[in-house]
Order: sequence, then structure tokens, then C-alpha cells
Amino acid sequence: MATIFSRIIAGEIPCYKVAEDDKFFAFLDINPLVKGHTLVVPKQEVDYIFDLEDEDLAAMHVFAKRVAVAIGKAFPCKKVGEAVLGLEVPHAHIHLIPMQSEKDMLFSNPKLKLTDGEFKVVVEAIRAML
Ligand code: 5GP
Repeated sequence: MATIFSRIIAGEIPCYKVAEDDKFFAFLDINPLVKGHTLVVPKQEVDYIFDLEDEDLAAMHVFAKRVAVAIGKAFPCKKVGEAVLGLEVPHAHIHLIPMQSEKDMLFSNPKLKLTDGEFKVVVEAIRAML
């Protein structure tokens, strides 16, 4: 069965899309730690990120870099942090999170509850910087 991220990529489940190319897809995390929290996923359905071929793993990071630079411009921060967990959704993904401090990377923090309008403002702000 297709993962929820494959269904998002296929357009079967809505998302706030940040960027896409032939191999990778970026969209806002629906339970953001902070505004700008974005997920980067390969279109190839692989659970564990380190099961990706070297070339694809490298290309995923180059794609993530482009998105991270845009996030950093849209949401000024000390740095855009990168995290890989993958314990919830079995489809490899990188979390990109604009950080004011290391506490912004704590996945045990309460998640933001954004309205549809707020998500749209966030995604447009990032897209405008790509
Ligand atoms: P992880 O697998 O890295 O532990 O966490 C998966 C992440 O995917 C979580 O931060 C969660 O909020 C996000 N997520 C799970 N389901 C969806 C979804 O349907 N849409 C979006 N945009 N994000 C999701």
C-alpha cells in the first residue's frame, strides 16, 4: 500500500507544497514545531533514508539545501536545522526547521496549530524565496 507521503505526492491527499522536481517533493509538516517546518521526501518510496542509493541521498540533500535557503529567507533564523527521524511515517524524509535556538528542534515540544490561512501564508512566503 502506498505511504501517506506517496499519496500526498500523487495529489490524492492535499498538502501545502513548497517545491518539487522529478525526484523530490517538499511540503509543510502538518504538525509544525515552528512556522516554516518543512518535509523533504524522495518520490521513490523508501522507508529508511540510508537505504537510498548514494547518488539519490546526495541529490536529496542538494534539493533540501535549495528549500532550506528559501525557508531561511522567509523565516529569518539562526540556522535552518535538519533532522531525520522517520519513526512515524515509513517513507524517508528530512525535516527542515528554522531555529532560533536548539530548543526549536525538540520533537517533544507542543506542535503549532495553524489555520488553513496561516499555512497558506507560510507556504507562499517560502515559495516566494525559491
Ligand atoms: P517522523 O516519521 O519523522 O517521526 O514524523 C513524520 C512527520 O510527518 C510528523 O512531523 C508529522 O507531523 C508529519 N505528517 C504525518 N502525516 C502527515 C500528513 O498527512 N501531512 C503532512 N503535511 N505531514 C504529515
